[in-house]
Amino acid sequence: MARGGKIAARHINQRVHVFMKCPYCGSENVEAVKSWEMPKMGFNVTHYRCKSCSGLFNHYVGRGKEFVLRVGLRRRG
Ligand SMILES: [Zn+2]
Repeated sequence: MARGGKIAARHINQRVHVFMKCPYCGSENVEAVKSWEMPKMGFNVTHYRCKSCSGLFNHYVGRGKEFVLRVGLRRRG
C-alpha cells in the first residue's frame, strides 16, 4: 500500500538487555513489565519479573551507569 506514512519514531531511550539476569535465581527468563523515567535522578528504570522464580527487580540505567536493585516483597508488618 502507500509508503511514506507516519513513521513511528519513538524516542524512548530504552535499550534491550538480552542478557538481563534475575538477581535471585540467575535465570535469563525474565520479562520487562514496565519502564519509567526518573528525571531527578537521571535514570531510566525498567521493572522486570522473573518467570522462573517470580522475583521482581528494577534495572536502572543512566549517566553511564546501570545497576539492578531487588524489589523485595511488601515490608509491612
Ligand atoms: Zn528468578
